[in-house]
Amino acid sequence: MLVVHKYGGTSVGNLDRIENVANRVAKAKKAGSDVVVVVSAMSGETNKLVGYAEHFTSTPAKKEMDMLLSSGERVTAALLSIALQSQGVDAVAMSGRQAGIVTDNRHTYARIESIDPTAMQEAINAGKVVIVAGFQGINKDGSVTTLGRGGSDLSAVALAGALQADQCEIYSDVDGIYTTDPRIEPNAKKLDTISYDEMLELSSLGAKVLQNRSVELAKKLNVKLYAKSSFSDNEGTLIIKESNSMEEVLVSGVVLDRNQARVTLRGVSDRPGIAAEIFTKLADANINVDMIIQNVGTDGATNLGFTVPQSEHLNARKIMEGFDHDIEGMDFDEHVCKVSVVGVGMKSHSGVAATAFTTLAKSNINIEMISTSEIKVSMVINDKYGELAIRALHEAYGLDQ
Ligand code: ADP
Ligand code: ASP
Ligand code: MG
Repeated sequence: MLVVHKYGGTSVGNLDRIENVANRVAKAKKAGSDVVVVVSAMSGETNKLVGYAEHFTSTPAKKEMDMLLSSGERVTAALLSIALQSQGVDAVAMSGRQAGIVTDNRHTYARIESIDPTAMQEAINAGKVVIVAGFQGINKDGSVTTLGRGGSDLSAVALAGALQADQCEIYSDVDGIYTTDPRIEPNAKKLDTISYDEMLELSSLGAKVLQNRSVELAKKLNVKLYAKSSFSDNEGTLIIKESNSMEEVLVSGVVLDRNQARVTLRGVSDRPGIAAEIFTKLADANINVDMIIQNVGTDGATNLGFTVPQSEHLNARKIMEGFDHDIEGMDFDEHVCKVSVVGVGMKSHSGVAATAFTTLAKSNINIEMISTSEIKVSMVINDKYGELAIRALHEAYGLDQ
């Protein structure tokens, strides 16, 4: 059996914790599995490196950022390998490049294009534990690239796919996927299983327990994916294909995304092509626009509102200023958040959205924007009320039962 383990920042946050991970890996190896381990940087390390760069400029070159940020994961990979070797376990640490991970050119948000598993496979065949620095690869020019924040999850799933591993286990400080973030709602319940699609929505809507692109890839490559804790031996949550019985459960989870900013454009010229121009410019700058609301125009002008990730709001502002001929005025509100309700059961039941609106109304929370899909309802509200809304929704759908 070949398993891929991925240990996140908190799991390798200090030397004792790296030792703990080494013990867990050694145990799996001794039990007879081949093990490939993907590691994150020690917790706080990536942010610290970002801070160093921002000491000099708020807009550091993305290529240099990749050179900088990829170092954090390499430190952990080397230390874990050293820790294993000191226990007499044969191990080898590899950078993304050595592991054969080739990406496109999008520095700081690269996509994996191919993986040549030869070097890893040779090491596995030689009986070694292979430890790969997560979150990174190289592009065709040979420059280091990184895969976006939380990207070590993606490295792990991609390697599991390339090596045709039996399963991929993502270890963090929480022992599975809960009905909501247990830090917000202590009554949250752990789920034994969750479908890829629900997990993808939860991750995309802000539950950082698994990175959304890793879930998408696991679904595509059919990787058996577990979320587990590196601090316990509890069962964890298995992410699986949707089954009919899942539709009986109306709502599987609720999620809060604090990383949101709202843009309101007032007096936008109401002419064909204006929306295309605005959103193409944002897309060209790699800014993900989420909710969009356009009012019915009057007197040749209309209002247009949308949300962007908070980290992109200055970039969005710069781009909108280029439209001053077509826009009378604009407001930016960073004090918003998005609360969402997710469940495949919504496909076959009505009233889920109405319950969400009623629940927020009862808590006196004003809804600023709404969007829905087949399996989710999202609402933008004032960020003061984010946690309150999550707890109220969690209770309203009986998730604490
Ligand atoms: P790592 O650093 O190991 O990658 P993360 O911090 O990215 O771990 O993810 C683990 C955290 O995700 C947990 O501490 C928890 O607070 C948060 N989280 C958010 N939503 C959920 C959820 N629905 N279930 C479990 N954990 C969640
Ligand atoms: N260290 C990177 C981050 O903090 C990648 C990861 O941990 O997955 O985003
Ligand atoms: Mg993570």
